Amino acid sequence: MIYLDHNATTPLHPRAFEAMLPFLKELWANPSSPYRFGSQAKAAVEFGRGQIANCIGCKPSEVVFCSGGTESDNLALRGVVRALKSKGNHIVTTAIEHPAVLNTCKALENEGYRVTYLPVTEEGVVEMAALRASLCDGTILVTVMHANNETGVIQPVEEIATTTRARGVVFHTDAVQSAGKLDRKLAELGADLVTFSGHKLYGPRGVGVLYVREGTPLAPWMTGGTHEHGLRAGTENVAAIAGCAEAVTLAFEEAETEGHRLRSLRDRFELQVGAAIQAVRFNGSEAQRVPNTSNISFQDVDGESVVLGLDVRGICVSTGSACSTDDPEPSHVLRAMGLSPRAAQGSVRFSLGRDTCAADLDATVSALKDTVAHLRRVSSIRGDLE
Ligand code: PLP
Repeated sequence: MIYLDHNATTPLHPRAFEAMLPFLKELWANPSSPYRFGSQAKAAVEFGRGQIANCIGCKPSEVVFCSGGTESDNLALRGVVRALKSKGNHIVTTAIEHPAVLNTCKALENEGYRVTYLPVTEEGVVEMAALRASLCDGTILVTVMHANNETGVIQPVEEIATTTRARGVVFHTDAVQSAGKLDRKLAELGADLVTFSGHKLYGPRGVGVLYVREGTPLAPWMTGGTHEHGLRAGTENVAAIAGCAEAVTLAFEEAETEGHRLRSLRDRFELQVGAAIQAVRFNGSEAQRVPNTSNISFQDVDGESVVLGLDVRGICVSTGSACSTDDPEPSHVLRAMGLSPRAAQGSVRFSLGRDTCAADLDATVSALKDTVAHLRRVSSIRGDLE
């Protein structure tokens, strides 16, 4: 099997697995229990918190563990609007966010909040002028993702942070797809809240992190105990936290070297695809991107058919977000970048990872060439790539 869908999920790193084992086998106590057995589990949670704080450049008290990227996004958005209810009801986001943010914004609209969905350029980047123009007295939250999950395009979060800080507006960024892929301490992006998730960086599923800059107004949205500084109730998943902390440590240690390796593999792959197949479009390739992601539209074919054709040859890729596979609509991200429904429907995401090598990509180019040629022969789809 050739796995090129690392933006959907990643395999558990053996060192993360090892780090989890003691808490699944011997040290299974509840970290809130008062006896020594419980304190040992608590110590593991705090050790993991310290490891993550060290990697992202913040204090341990600014790290909140939860169940994943989706919950972390929900805590950020719902937590800020709850805390700032009396200050205003306007939220600013973009048209290209992950459903974890977009659908939370839509739910908040149903609760009476006003949401501005900023457009992006044809390279998939939010325009600062539009963002500045959207801010008003009632704006309480700006949420803009760091790297897009479908295209890998990086948003100008540092610049956004400078703008929101000057206006006294809270800024959240979903860094699920950039964490561990860029040699960058996430707390230094300048955002007040940063989301990331264990299973996107070779940690286990079911654990995520919300970085909460000290002093950021945030109210818990779930009722329960006082875990995680009172912000996220529920008994901590000690094994997952230990595995996530180990994975984060490894990812941040290797981000620079692995980033160079993946970027050169990805760029070579795109050159090969461009040379082997006519009428293709590399979405977002002129913008800054995370090094592992390539999003390609193929004229006159259906992306879903390419995914199935490659699957038959043992190659795993996807048409976009794994969370939207049941959604027949063309990608909202590519549509926001100006692609027609037809062109968006003909797109495939290739996301490379730690085990990807040049031979995998050579085999993928060859399989892709045959698959696309076959589909073009049998398909009645006709359209351009705009
Ligand atoms: N945000 C982004 C940008 C993502 O890509 C994903 C997952 O694909 C999520 C949030 C949700 O993360 P999780 O699967 O940990 O809930």
